[in-house]
Amino acid sequence: MLTKAPRGTKDITPKEAYKWNYVENKFREVCSLFGYEEMRTPVFEHTELFKRSVGDTTDIVQKEMYSFKDKGERDITLKPEGTAGVVRAFIENKLYADTQPTKLFYMTPCFRYERPQAGRQRQFHQFGIEALGSDKPSIDAEVIALAVQFFNEVGLKDLAVSINSVGCPTCREKYNAKLKEYLDSKVDVLCETCLDRKDKNPMRVIDCKNPTCQENIKDIPFMIDHLCEDCSTHFDKVKEYLTEMDVNFVVDKTIVRGLDYYKKTAFEIISNDIGSQSTVCGGGRYDGLVEQLGGPKGLSGIGFAIGAERLLLTLENNNIEIKNPQATDIYIATIGEAAKIKSFKILKDLRYNHISSENDHLDRSIKAQFKYSDKINSKFTIVIGDDELANDTATLKNMATSEQTTIKLSEIVKELQDRL
Ligand code: ATP
Ligand code: MG
Repeated sequence: MLTKAPRGTKDITPKEAYKWNYVENKFREVCSLFGYEEMRTPVFEHTELFKRSVGDTTDIVQKEMYSFKDKGERDITLKPEGTAGVVRAFIENKLYADTQPTKLFYMTPCFRYERPQAGRQRQFHQFGIEALGSDKPSIDAEVIALAVQFFNEVGLKDLAVSINSVGCPTCREKYNAKLKEYLDSKVDVLCETCLDRKDKNPMRVIDCKNPTCQENIKDIPFMIDHLCEDCSTHFDKVKEYLTEMDVNFVVDKTIVRGLDYYKKTAFEIISNDIGSQSTVCGGGRYDGLVEQLGGPKGLSGIGFAIGAERLLLTLENNNIEIKNPQATDIYIATIGEAAKIKSFKILKDLRYNHISSENDHLDRSIKAQFKYSDKINSKFTIVIGDDELANDTATLKNMATSEQTTIKLSEIVKELQDRL
């Protein structure tokens, strides 16, 4: 037990960590190109925050949260997603008082108690953005374009961007009445969960993963066919701006976000590149959320979340290789204690000049030291013994070409600077 991490969690060892650094850096870079700044929020929040924002009727809140009472009897939950914390922080830090919009990004671990499988863990990571304070369709298009550019930059080119509109309270009220009527006529074929959704959150029936439900509700009415004029114009504008940015998209009527404060644009991005079947990014507009969480009225928001594990899996499935940038510039092999002592002076000079370097820490034979030098992928190796110390000369070996050069030990920094 002590040597086994909890089910659904994974270590990210150095063999993987450089890939994480790569995608994280790319995400930062692309966010910065669009003017999004980082927001970091706590890993745990008050449970109530997620109940209110993610929604009481969702699988996340009903089945998947890591909730507990802390020693002060507070109800605490490890964040199952990134938006709630960011919006809470936006309100608490009064970022709404500044000139709007506020454009934020985050990278965070998330926690959901789910059955672990490929691309599904109990601790996983999300990269996301939230654009707050604008209800205009231009920011919807910007948010989608940012996600697309990020995927393109990490090498995923064949993307299916699906967009939809889930309307607003005005059009949804009429639509929900139609939907209820339709669902009432289907009560004997709906699954248990959908029967429950029918009354609490009817639009989510469309999202049911149960194949029989899918089969039986093929002619269900969709929100997009019943939009009010405002929502319809908004949607048209989003499409127009996306087209201008050469973002290929399709309208998918089945994308839903069931909670009241979700409004207008909803979208998903799926990678069509070989081997991936799952959504790598989901997002949408949540115009009522700020108010719902106690912030000022009428402040809109839109964002997305990318599942980082699924992104990395997709890259792997598509043989998109990420190079490990870690290679040591020079390994200093030593023979005898005098050389070992001297190597510390050399190492210090090299490292202060930003030349990465290592020496032996196990008093190994020269052969074993060379083996280690291979393991760390060093670009150069040098051997220092009593003779080298006495003459201030040593042989520098280029590990890639096997070329050997005699250099002055006292000039090693310059010699390497010329060669790296
Ligand atoms: P799914 O239908 O696969 O459960 P979801 O609708 O629960 O996904 P969101 O809540 O929209 O997912 O989360 C955004 C993204 O986070 C997903 O598209 C996915 O890439 C990722 N994700 C969600 N749950 C997990 C998990 N348990 N492990 C790894 N990644 C996850
Ligand atoms: Mg889920």
